[in-house]
Amino acid sequence: MQIVIDHLVKTYEGGIRALDGVQMQIGDGVFGLLGPNGSGKTTLMRIIATLLEPTSGAVSIDGNDVRRRQSDVRKLLGYLPQEFGLYPSLTAWEFLDYMALLYNVEDTRQRERIVNESLERTNLTHLRDRKVGTFSGGMKQRLGIAQAILNSPKLLIVDEPTSGLDPEERIRIRSLLAELGGDRVIILSTHIVADIEAVADSIGVLHLGKVKFQGTHEELLRSIAGKTWQIEVEREELRQIKEKLQITGVFRSIGGVEIRVVAASSELGGSLPHIRARQVEPTLEDAYIHLMGGSAVG
Ligand code: ADP
Ligand code: MG
Repeated sequence: MQIVIDHLVKTYEGGIRALDGVQMQIGDGVFGLLGPNGSGKTTLMRIIATLLEPTSGAVSIDGNDVRRRQSDVRKLLGYLPQEFGLYPSLTAWEFLDYMALLYNVEDTRQRERIVNESLERTNLTHLRDRKVGTFSGGMKQRLGIAQAILNSPKLLIVDEPTSGLDPEERIRIRSLLAELGGDRVIILSTHIVADIEAVADSIGVLHLGKVKFQGTHEELLRSIAGKTWQIEVEREELRQIKEKLQITGVFRSIGGVEIRVVAASSELGGSLPHIRARQVEPTLEDAYIHLMGGSAVG
């Protein structure tokens, strides 16, 4: 499957330009859409899912414009919205059975089969008779994913599925997505670099409605090759260093504080002549902070 996003613009009432000429290509595998809050991720996903009209530009799937083929697109689509309501007094099984009815699966036996399969794939079988209202955040997200895969979608869109979860639940969601990614396209949006690191085959970075990067892990890492350093500093020096260098991480060390920076070696020497920097392997976090022009130190 090939999804082409062509010059997409979305201006909301009030003049906010949530998408500002977005161009992207999404192929098979897990596509990680990374960006801070307000960068336009949800807007983009809703347009791909045909739930929102763009102001201009187009999205096509295998050459078919999604606006003209709305019902075909919806048939191949599973969607987990960023915010979704569950019915707290239904059990997991009742909820999925109800959702399957909404997908027009009228045959009871067939419904039972796909609900059981969805529960199985999302590791919820043991919770099938528990009321949804008693679920943890992670269980709710897994149920949301179970709902989104009821119709065996060829395209699965999940909008910030790990946000607000504790680390253990986050890891479960990641491994679930990695498993589901085998035989379909998954578009995963997140503001958490580690989500992308864990599961995405290719990456798009959005910032203020514009594409800042599209490519693979390796390509994103290569953008800062030879420019990542770890430096031991005195606490008092931090403020001064932060004015001169882009800091992407701060750690406590035996002597005081260690920082990670992204800088060309010439920049490094010029700004901190007395300091010994150790070159380190770049991480996606370094590359992302660098791309955003931000800093890990406020
Ligand atoms: P993200 O999902 O990356 O946080 P969104 O797509 O939700 O980004 O939002 C992008 C921008 O559009 C933000 O500035 C947001 O405030 C604005 N926005 C989103 N939805 C609406 C809406 N329904 N009406 C007006 N502005 C909106
Ligand atoms: Mg969002």
